[in-house]
Amino acid sequence: MRPEPAGGVSAFHAATARLLRPLALAEALGFKALGKMPDLAADVRSTCSQFDSLALPQDLLDRVHALARDFAPEISGSDLRPAIVRAIALLEAWSKPEFVESVLARPVTVLSGVGPKRAGLLGSRGIRTVSDLVFYLPTRYDDRRALAKLCDLEVGRRATFIGEIKSVDRKTVHAGRRQRRLLQAVIGDETGSVNLKWFHAAGAVEKDLELGALFLVTGDVKRYRFSMEIVHPELERIDSNDAVETTGEGNDDAKVHAKAKAKAEFEQTSDRHRNIVPHYPAPEGIPPRTLRKLIRSAVDAYSDLVEGCLPQALTTRRELPEPGVALRRIHAPELHADVLRYDAFRSPAHERLVLEELYLLQLGLVLRRAARAQVPGIAIDIELSRVRAAARALPFALTSAQLRVWREVAADLAQPHPMNRLLQGDVGSGKTAIALLAAVAVAANGRQVALMAPTELLAEQHARSIRALSGANQRILGLRVGLLTASLPRAEAADVLAALAAGEIDLMIGTHALIQQKVEFRDLALAIVDEQHRFGVLQRASLMAGARGSLSPHVLVMTATPIPRTLALTGYGDLDLSVIDELPPGRSPTETIAMGAGDGERIMQMIRDTTARGEQVYVVYPLVEESEKLDLRSAMESAERIDAAFPELRVDLLHGRLDAARRGRVMDRFARGQIDILVATTVIEVGVDVANASLMIIEHAERFGLAQLHQLRGRVGRGTASGTCLLVSRGGGGDARARLDAMLRTGDGFEIADADLELRGPGEFLGTRQSGDLADLRLADLVRDAALVELARETAIETLAADPGLQSDPRLMRAVEAHWGERLALIQVG
Ligand code: ADP
Ligand code: MG
Repeated sequence: MRPEPAGGVSAFHAATARLLRPLALAEALGFKALGKMPDLAADVRSTCSQFDSLALPQDLLDRVHALARDFAPEISGSDLRPAIVRAIALLEAWSKPEFVESVLARPVTVLSGVGPKRAGLLGSRGIRTVSDLVFYLPTRYDDRRALAKLCDLEVGRRATFIGEIKSVDRKTVHAGRRQRRLLQAVIGDETGSVNLKWFHAAGAVEKDLELGALFLVTGDVKRYRFSMEIVHPELERIDSNDAVETTGEGNDDAKVHAKAKAKAEFEQTSDRHRNIVPHYPAPEGIPPRTLRKLIRSAVDAYSDLVEGCLPQALTTRRELPEPGVALRRIHAPELHADVLRYDAFRSPAHERLVLEELYLLQLGLVLRRAARAQVPGIAIDIELSRVRAAARALPFALTSAQLRVWREVAADLAQPHPMNRLLQGDVGSGKTAIALLAAVAVAANGRQVALMAPTELLAEQHARSIRALSGANQRILGLRVGLLTASLPRAEAADVLAALAAGEIDLMIGTHALIQQKVEFRDLALAIVDEQHRFGVLQRASLMAGARGSLSPHVLVMTATPIPRTLALTGYGDLDLSVIDELPPGRSPTETIAMGAGDGERIMQMIRDTTARGEQVYVVYPLVEESEKLDLRSAMESAERIDAAFPELRVDLLHGRLDAARRGRVMDRFARGQIDILVATTVIEVGVDVANASLMIIEHAERFGLAQLHQLRGRVGRGTASGTCLLVSRGGGGDARARLDAMLRTGDGFEIADADLELRGPGEFLGTRQSGDLADLRLADLVRDAALVELARETAIETLAADPGLQSDPRLMRAVEAHWGERLALIQVG
């Protein structure tokens, strides 16, 4: 397959190439053929003149003009030769990507009107270079194409109209001890009027507010007592002062006539004002109009330097404008533009820029994945009889989804390159079984496995349940399991570490302690990361770096918090994906009920009913760092209250402050059915697996995040008894209500994840550490642009299928590296 050409070479680049072509030809022919190129100078001049219509900075245009003068008609043949040599040197330098990069990286102070002070103000918004300014896109638009009449103004809407100043009023108002100047004006047309108000003295505005002056006004119309007002409107004076003055004082008729004419002219012809005006969040101290002008001047002088990388076929198919054109349209939409699409970031121009950005990111991620597929790894023999028998030796039959995923994992393990796989499966879908099978395969090959869990409780439970599972069929599943957590006594930890280094442990289970401490494996071949949805690209890179030995281990990341596909394609875009999309048989969906403060008696009754059936109950309290002591106390008090209310039941308490041994005993007793009601803080959030527990009561549900609620609910309904989850909330704002609504609406992890992503945004969703990976997306929004993420992904895969190393397109490779090379460690791996 031949790689497709990239579209979107900048207009500057194209013009430079056009200019260079005949000159390079002349040089290549050794200047001997100059006589046969009589039109050369004229050609050069005409190409030079094409630069003038481009959005380029003046200094570049000046150089082009100088170049054209070297080829003026009166220049003799002998002078042509040095002129050609000079021109080629210049144009070759201009063709280099570094040149364009350096021009776009000029500081904002190169623009007229930007001194050190303004540069500082812009810098507070992260705007330092002309490129930053050019890519500072409007967040919305004011539609000033249709001018309102004043009688049509509506409270609560933004409007643009023309009016005449009828009165101006200055007041000083006392706000507490401070004095504030209040400036008010009434503006009107023949149909009505409206008040304009400024709270802090607006000197420049005030000077302009002459009686009778005509203004174009834009602003949000609000109700004030019985009339309407606009606070801090945007104003543009439209009657030129001169026009009025030259008609002479005292000639009122002429004045009125001139004004009417100004207005009529304005309404009919002034496209300058009748337009769609971009709105930018302005840094403190820069008036919106000034910022608009600055951005406009940057766009006018630099946008044709901006290059695109998308394949030509894609931009043609989707009819996307070139990047320079896209930028100009976004900053100054055409008169017939569809404002709603512009507002929604959905115009073809927006699509072009967002796709450019996402495409480079996806190329980076897919390249990283491909580069890692070349890294030498440890091939695991999965044809050994013990491995082949392992799935059948489990105490249950694998679901077909588990079987499919196990085959995918096994196929990866068999490769002499490291596996990098993300295993997604909703809570209770049976991911542990896959981890166990993979561990058995690696152990059967005489090598070691690390299994990392996010909490000690979960690490302890994994150790318990894997020991139990492998006990079920010792001959096939038997593993020597070690457990390492931070709370292990030092002497025991030393023993475990020694055994690990000696190769006496097959499967090492632990928390972050596994990567943070000096843990030495004798022969680590597989690292499994469980329930770590916050374990993104960067954290995984550090895990790999921590592995000693010459060969990289296989990596399997398991998560129950379903990651919306767009995030999976970005934060985890370098991984292969397996999904367990089916629950083990016999599960019925958990019923979710919202409860409030007054439902105490009903809740008590449900506890009574559940325990009467011999099933067990969780009562969960939130625990957050800021109010840890208080939270812990309310959990303890609740345990006491419940204990007192149900003297015949066994109630116990579990929280993170208990030492590991105590925690282990409590979990053991709960798992064996020796505790009826377990009052716990969120330590049980992930992974805890007790099939006989069927009632989950979440206190202060309004304080939990959506992913947490979903995880907690997943603790019940794991056996054959159907589960019930009570969300007890006491107040909470709109976001809390939205979270609870989502919980009531669906039990599907993917729907929950989408709702969560919408509520929290990608940074929050993945955790602050992870969001660092994505913070560099300056235009794309993973929620809004989900469909474009998919498209960018497919396109990147196609591009790399045709040209795996991007050899045929060094410019593209360079762009990917410039944007993502360092972050994705492309250079080290590739
Ligand atoms: P998760 O995917 O949330 O980690 P687990 O691996 O903890 O889920 O499995 C949840 C429960 O389902 C466990 O008790 C496990 O033994 C059981 N289980 C897993 N796979 C099957 C299966 N195929 N048939 C029946 N039970 C299963
Ligand atoms: Mg699990």
